[in-house]
Amino acid sequence: MNKTTQQKAELSLVFPIFNEEKIIPLLNKEINKFVKKLPSKTELIFVNDGSTDKTHDQLKKIKTKYPFKIINFSRNFGHQAALLAGLQESSGEYVVTLDADLQHPLNIIPEMLKLHKQGYDVVLTQRIDEKTINKSKQFFTKLFYKFINILSDTKVLENGSDFRSLNRKALTALLSLPEQRKFLRGMIQWIGYKTIIIPFQAKKRVEGVSKYSLSKMTNLALHGLTSSSTKPLYLSGIFSIILFILALIYAIYVLYVRFWGTGIVDGWASVLFVVLIIGGFLSLFLGLIGAYIAAIYDETKNRPGFFVSSTWNSK
Ligand code: UDP
Ligand code: MG
Repeated sequence: MNKTTQQKAELSLVFPIFNEEKIIPLLNKEINKFVKKLPSKTELIFVNDGSTDKTHDQLKKIKTKYPFKIINFSRNFGHQAALLAGLQESSGEYVVTLDADLQHPLNIIPEMLKLHKQGYDVVLTQRIDEKTINKSKQFFTKLFYKFINILSDTKVLENGSDFRSLNRKALTALLSLPEQRKFLRGMIQWIGYKTIIIPFQAKKRVEGVSKYSLSKMTNLALHGLTSSSTKPLYLSGIFSIILFILALIYAIYVLYVRFWGTGIVDGWASVLFVVLIIGGFLSLFLGLIGAYIAAIYDETKNRPGFFVSSTWNSK
C-alpha cells in the first residue's frame, strides 16, 4: 500500500527502540491501558534501531486494536535517525514521538492533542523531576544546554526531551529541512510555529539500562552544537583578529626598540619581528577561513529561507 491509498491516521505514535525485548510486553500493556483516551484512528510505528536481541519478535507479538508497523534498521543508526524514520513514515494529523521504555508517560498525549485543537502546532515537553536521572547525566545535560544556548542562535529548550507532538503543518516543515546531519531538538525550535511547552515528570525506566552511553551522549552534544551554530567559528575568527592586532602592536614596539632602544641582544628584534608578523597574519587568515567555512556550512544545509504560518488577504 502506498501512502496515498493508505488511510490517514489521526494520531501516529512513534517509538524508537534499541534492544528493549523485556520492555515491549509492558509497553503493549501500557498502550492498551490508554485505548479509551487515544483517538480510534491511532497508528503505532516502532522503529527497531538495529536491535541485536529479540526486540523484533516481541514487537510482532504486540496485541492492540491499532494498526502498527515495525521498521527494522540494518544496524544501530541511533535514536535521532530512528525518530526521523518514524516521523517520515507517519501518516497522522498529529505525530507524537516517545521513548519505548515508558519514561515518557502516555497520559500526557490527550493533553497534547487538546493543545493542538486550541491552535498549537508544536507541543514540547520539559522534564521537571530530575530524581529519575543520575547525577552525572544531570550535570552533563545541564552543561550541554548552557553551552549550546550561549553559542547558538536558535535556543534549545533546557531539559527538553524527544517526547513531543507536532501537527502535520509543523512536521512537513521539519521534514523539509534537507540537511544530512539532523539535530531534531534544534531544528524544531528553528522552524518556529506556535509552540507550547508542557512540563512532565519523567518516570523511572521500567526495565533494562539506558541505551545512551557516554559516547552516544557526547556525540549528540557535539552534533547538536555544530548543527545549531556556527558561532564557535566566528568567535575563533574574532580571537584571531584580536591576536593579529596584538601581534602587530608588539611588532611595532620591537621595531621601535631595535632602532631607538638600548641594550638589546643581537638578533632579538629580527627573530621576534618575523615571528610576530607571520604569526599575526596566519591567525588573521585562519579567522577569515573560519568565516568562510561558517558561510559554506550554512549554505550546504540548504534550509529554506522562511516558513509561512498563515496569510491574510483584505478581500
Ligand atoms: N534508542 C534507540 N537507539 C539508540 C539508543 C536508544 O532507538 O541508539 C531508544 C531506546 O530504546 C529508547 C529511547 O531511544 O526507547 C531512549 O533511549 P534511552 O531510554 O536508553 O535513553 P535515556 O532515557 O536514558 O536518555
Ligand atoms: Mg529512557
